[in-house]
Amino acid sequence: MKKLRFIKPSNGAHWVGDGFPVRNIFSYDDIAHEISPFLLLDYAGPREFPPTQKKLGVGEHPHRGFETVSIIYSGEVSHRDSSGGGGTIGPGEVQWMTAASGLVHEEFHGPNYAKTGGPFEMVQLWVNLPASQKMREPRYQAITAGQIPEAPLPEGAGRVRVIAGSFDGAKGPADTFTPMQVWDVRLEAGKTTRLTLTPGHTATFLVLTGEVRVLGPNGGMEQVREAELAVFETEGSTLQIEASTASKILILSGEPLNEPIVGYGPFVMNTEQEIRQAFRDYQSGRMGRLKD
Ligand code: MN
Repeated sequence: MKKLRFIKPSNGAHWVGDGFPVRNIFSYDDIAHEISPFLLLDYAGPREFPPTQKKLGVGEHPHRGFETVSIIYSGEVSHRDSSGGGGTIGPGEVQWMTAASGLVHEEFHGPNYAKTGGPFEMVQLWVNLPASQKMREPRYQAITAGQIPEAPLPEGAGRVRVIAGSFDGAKGPADTFTPMQVWDVRLEAGKTTRLTLTPGHTATFLVLTGEVRVLGPNGGMEQVREAELAVFETEGSTLQIEASTASKILILSGEPLNEPIVGYGPFVMNTEQEIRQAFRDYQSGRMGRLKD
């Protein structure tokens, strides 16, 4: 059985542009080295937006050295990048963007959603790339809801949507550079779930909705509440979760990269020198520009 190491509360709320009211759950400034290859997670919403003619979101900005993974629960996000990637995704859909050597992009509420307004909820996860892949060509994977397999948990305990990795024979559509599991999991109230993860891989989950209990470091059960992240030992393979209420959680597990993490703003590399180079390359236009 995997033991809980600690529960991390969010770092507080802030706006990303004028479209994304996020709670930063973790970043490369705090515990990323303990849950490699995951670097940062912003949890946007849930929040109700009124109908608007305005384009809410965040304009052109760069990234280098990792991947951004946007998972939409409610609402709609439109994205466009300088390597030619882009599109609009809605509930149940995922955009998996490999920034790698660098690009600029913009992220806004989708036009149809903006017109009607309504509930908005999404996660943006940053996934690190191994040093050998940080300067490869950018890539964009648009993953539709229909491409994400859903597998039931035993004893009616809930269901798992497999975005990356595999669960019970269901293989997630995301093509990743290192082995990892990214699972959108729904748990039924009062049920206990046992999930098998790879020993030696990092293991963590975020509670988006509801409340769950896990085995704590001292042998007692500990509550994990909304917008909290439970971080587990890499040893062991069984992750046991009791749902106190109906819950929506995001499980992340992966092979640790064991490489230095040096991040500054939108760039995450292995050395300070590479960060300085990223700023120079962005300023000289080598990450491209969006055309109007
Ligand atoms: Mn971005």
